[in-house]
Amino acid sequence: MIFTKLTSECCWICGTNEGLSGEHKIKKSDLKKTPDNLPGILKGYKGQEKPIQGLNSKLLKFDNSICATCNNQKTQQADRSYDEFRDHSTEKIMSILNKTADAIDIAEVSDFNNAGRLELARYFAKHIGCQIDHNKFPIPCRLSRFVNREIDKACVSVKIRLAPWLWQDSLTGDLRPLNGVGGIVLVFTGNVISLPSYYQTAYMTGGLQFIVTMKLNKLEALDIWIYHSIRMGKAKPEISNERAKHLGFPFDN
Ligand SMILES: [Zn+2]
Repeated sequence: MIFTKLTSECCWICGTNEGLSGEHKIKKSDLKKTPDNLPGILKGYKGQEKPIQGLNSKLLKFDNSICATCNNQKTQQADRSYDEFRDHSTEKIMSILNKTADAIDIAEVSDFNNAGRLELARYFAKHIGCQIDHNKFPIPCRLSRFVNREIDKACVSVKIRLAPWLWQDSLTGDLRPLNGVGGIVLVFTGNVISLPSYYQTAYMTGGLQFIVTMKLNKLEALDIWIYHSIRMGKAKPEISNERAKHLGFPFDN
């Protein structure tokens, strides 16, 4: 099986259909660091606004798609690894990013050993999996297996850059870090037969943007093209690099 068999009622990591909950789009520990943004307003890309009542608001979470065991136990180590990374590496990252406009590979700036880097990758794998599920795209089985600790081959890569957008306080005019999440994009590269190459998503918090990429192998790309492309809608590979960067998706891989 190439893709996780999905129904809206099953956990995309382990397959159970009991007690599903939604992962925070921006980790709760990150949201707590910007309390002046909450309670606040959720602004959609198309301009719609919805009030957010608190940090556990459904508006701040992906659709219910992971079970309690996966959310609380299986991915606990990965979650902790992310928190540790944010607590101990942010200052160093900021000083590097303030000198460059480029996105840098997270592996270059974390002080983790190989095991720590693997856990960090598992956090971002969980995040992109929830985003893929939220947008009803097929989830590669190896992503589920990696997050479920069945395999140790990291299947995502992560880059960081300074957040391209900031939030302006309407009262003071001050610019502040924005919490923002993009959707999932399926990127096509210029092959003769235009197959999908990778999934990519991005989110911003604390003045940083995290860009998470999962490259598809040939079987996954073919399977998406043959069996899922109609359901996923017409592919639009002609978005310009400039437009992509404006949307917060630097498609360079
Ligand atoms: Zn599960």
